[in-house]
Amino acid sequence: MQLQDPTLLRQQCYINGQWLDANNAAIIEVTNPATGETLGSTPDMGADETQAAIDAANTALPAWRALTAKERAVKLRKWFDLMMENQDDLAKIMTLEQGKPLAEAKGEVAYAASFIEWFGEEAKRIYGDTIPGHMQDKRIVVIKQPIGVTAAITPWNFPAAMITRKAGAALAAGCTMVIKPAAETPYSAFALAELAERAGIPAGVLNIVTGDAVAIGGVLTGSPIVRKLSFTGSTAVGIKLMEQCAPTVKKLSLELGGNAPFIVFDDADIDAAVDGAMISKYRNNGQTCVCANRIYVQDGVYEEFSQKLAAAVEKLNVGNGMDEGTTTGPLISQAAVEKVENHLQDAISKGAKIITGGESHSLGGTFYQPTVVTNVDQSMTVAREETFGPLAPLFRFDSVEDVIEQANDTEFGLASYFYARDISRVWQVAEALDYGMVGINTGLISTEVAPFGGIKASGLGREGSHMGIEEYVETKYLCISV
Ligand code: ADP
Repeated sequence: MQLQDPTLLRQQCYINGQWLDANNAAIIEVTNPATGETLGSTPDMGADETQAAIDAANTALPAWRALTAKERAVKLRKWFDLMMENQDDLAKIMTLEQGKPLAEAKGEVAYAASFIEWFGEEAKRIYGDTIPGHMQDKRIVVIKQPIGVTAAITPWNFPAAMITRKAGAALAAGCTMVIKPAAETPYSAFALAELAERAGIPAGVLNIVTGDAVAIGGVLTGSPIVRKLSFTGSTAVGIKLMEQCAPTVKKLSLELGGNAPFIVFDDADIDAAVDGAMISKYRNNGQTCVCANRIYVQDGVYEEFSQKLAAAVEKLNVGNGMDEGTTTGPLISQAAVEKVENHLQDAISKGAKIITGGESHSLGGTFYQPTVVTNVDQSMTVAREETFGPLAPLFRFDSVEDVIEQANDTEFGLASYFYARDISRVWQVAEALDYGMVGINTGLISTEVAPFGGIKASGLGREGSHMGIEEYVETKYLCISV
């Protein structure tokens, strides 16, 4: 791997300011999903190392919490600057371990850094309240204080951003954190920790542990010292973690699965809707929790939209993310390929028609042809489950009422999208969609300034925006008799 700064590629965990192997020296191999080659390894840690990280975070807490918000903000700003100065290297590391095209990886690094910048700024605005007293001698003041030691468990699809939108908020608020990144993508996490260290974030404030997910997760959720867990991943694991957090009544932020509807009404700008669908569906090769999973197109524009979408999809350039011009990388694993294939076969067996793609890519490995299918209906698996891959299923609908009912007919409630121009329809549909986020005439909604999160089985809490930092503070009410 040719990096401008090779020291950014760390293969050890970061605990209490030290780079460490597992106590028993066990490792997990890290592979490049584009080539199947081994990139290196990451420590296979377990309960003991996790406990050491929690203890370090607890020891570091008083001094970190005692800094002024501005002092913490200065360090976070430095961390942000270092991320942007090393954007190219961070992107290369990410592409190699995750597979996304280099341009997308660069974009993610900037997006990830933006959370550090944003929350550093927000640190100075964790305002409280004064409330007129309920008795003549009473004065009421509400202050906000850091929760304490926190934990994060993050997925492989956004190896940097899923860490910074948790760690940025936590550190800005005065909390310390132990992070368990996905075993597939540890190097982005380690590189971030290396830059945090260079930015002057003290030992123990930020710790990274990799290894046995069940053992590490068990200690993080069971520990009475850890007062909050933030998790991004599948709903099944989120539910398990929620149960494990119950005995210690931890605060929780959960960003879980989605099943995003993407609705094209007949008054939409169809070309814009195609552009939006391309971004929403095929970004990161369909591997984001806000990817369009079900595309509903109104009768009158169904043919036009499906043809234009298929034409746009055929222009995608599947390949190794390190190669210039690649728009679409490999899927993360063979299991991910199988899920796409299962969803496709189920749809075809129930009457769906492939209009482009539909097979493994000639590049082999976990490369898959970007695929569009028509004649899709609510009886198919794609209507219920997140495909998390490059399969765009096109449903046909007639009335606004029907499509709202179908769009909301899921246990999930993360992102949704629709294209329409009639202003009354825009408001009515926006209010009727049971989702935490609605993209209206846009397929791209993620930004550090807005509250990201879902309802129903898609999770709890919000990340980003001024609300994101609130997830890392406790409210304390002071009643003063004068
Ligand atoms: P995905 O399908 O995106 O990999 P997962 O929910 O399986 O979603 O994984 C997200 C994160 O949760 C990863 O860091 C993974 O290692 C971790 N994880 C998976 N199972 C558990 C578990 N039982 N306890 C704690 N963490 C887990």
